[in-house]
Amino acid sequence: MIVTTLKDIETIKAFLKGYGSIAIIGCGACAAACQTGGKDDVMRIANILSTDFNITVKTVVDEACHHLLTRKQLRDLKDAINNSDCLLAMTCGAGVQCLAELFPDKKTVPSSDTHILGNVLRVGQFKNYCSMCGECTLDQTEGFCTKTRCPKSHVNGPCGGMHDGKCEVFPDKDCVFISIYNKRKTNSSKNVSKDIKGRDFSKKIDELELPRKNEHLRKKNN
Ligand code: SF4
Ligand code: SF4
Repeated sequence: MIVTTLKDIETIKAFLKGYGSIAIIGCGACAAACQTGGKDDVMRIANILSTDFNITVKTVVDEACHHLLTRKQLRDLKDAINNSDCLLAMTCGAGVQCLAELFPDKKTVPSSDTHILGNVLRVGQFKNYCSMCGECTLDQTEGFCTKTRCPKSHVNGPCGGMHDGKCEVFPDKDCVFISIYNKRKTNSSKNVSKDIKGRDFSKKIDELELPRKNEHLRKKNN
């Protein structure tokens, strides 16, 4: 899940300063789960802002990062949004940019800060386990991503600052390389190389088209 937190209301008001009418659009997926863009959140922010602004639209799309779906779901509200002075996106950064693309003539501002791809530990508690590097090497690291869970993003560690198995940067946390070592002691890992492959930043891409269904398997079998 993409984890977001709401900016404080004074910051949001400062973004909107000078605009009279505001369309508010939330996201029913990750933002709703983070309580930053669901129906209740949109209504709450709309109520607060209504003392200073004319709120023209209060709505929530299913997935604000989904361009086709969002365009379709906002079709009936297109004129109301275009006639508003400003669009407040209660979504993650990807959703904000989707809305900015769908409404190119509209000033679009974010209500939230977008933090991490978060594993959900329990309601409202998340941990960042993956930074989406584009080349997963978890087979080498016993299921612990050092690129993400080491604050220095080391791939071969521990660093010289590790102390008693604890991390130099966050001493209350275990050094991820010690976690890997301990797990390796208790299982029978095969095919583990001594050096973990370093991060190839060229694999971090900004556009991706998935192969057609099973195309990669077909290629392999030919
Ligand atoms: S190695 Fe890359 S893809 Fe795998 S968990 Fe870490 S950041 Fe994510
Ligand atoms: S102690 Fe371990 S987890 Fe912490 S910064 Fe050094 S290598 Fe990374």
